[in-house]
Amino acid sequence: MQNSTRKPIVAGNWKMNGNKPLIQLLEDSLATADLAHLEVVICPPFPYLGMFGGLNALGAQNMSQFDGGAHTGEIAASMLKECGCQYVILGHSERRAGHAETNDVVASKVKKALEADLTPILCVGETEEIRDSGNLFAFLAEQIDAVVQEIGVNEFSKLVLAYEPIWAIGTGKTASPAQAQEVHHFLREHLAKKNSDIAEKIRILYGGSVKGSNAKELFSQQDVDGGLIGGASLDPEDFLSICLAAKQ
Ligand code: PEP
Repeated sequence: MQNSTRKPIVAGNWKMNGNKPLIQLLEDSLATADLAHLEVVICPPFPYLGMFGGLNALGAQNMSQFDGGAHTGEIAASMLKECGCQYVILGHSERRAGHAETNDVVASKVKKALEADLTPILCVGETEEIRDSGNLFAFLAEQIDAVVQEIGVNEFSKLVLAYEPIWAIGTGKTASPAQAQEVHHFLREHLAKKNSDIAEKIRILYGGSVKGSNAKELFSQQDVDGGLIGGASLDPEDFLSICLAAKQ
């Protein structure tokens, strides 16, 4: 059964990749199809944010938890908003692991993003060790609950969630559709215990080695509302076929 009230999202996370010519190639590719049934969000590195022509929504890959001031090299939520961003990826595993972003730091960034009227794409996901240890659901609940504690569950009506198993990111090892559905269902049920209406409406994206060849099967799962795409978002043709695989 498919849910018609949740508009799918396909978001491309370029990470620290891409260049100016890729912007045009991607826009040319997206312009060839009718993508009105979904939201397409591109999250390029900061310098390219102002270079897109408006065909897709824009997202940043990170932002500061501070409003402004003496934080050399950081970018505030309000600045992203001024530059035309609607979304910001927060809590990506590469930020959590490589930049010491704890659950509390991620939660305070989510709060700042909402204050600036940005939609956070809040990433959660486990390592292979955590999955194998049997602590998967407790671990994911902790990642979610840190944010609930900071902003309250009602604010989740303004969030997008992304389930990104770390073992599947950039590895070519995708979660099976059943594995993705199991976790997405858990996340929705976990929120439903706090607010069933918000749980029903929140979009939960899957991320981890999604490609044109596996997107349709993943996106057809009941609780999967689109994808957060890394590597394949750099390939305009493959990215378009992932967009076309989103539920109608
Ligand atoms: C990501 O980094 O968010 C991601 C899902 O990467 P990939 O699609 O390359 O696994």
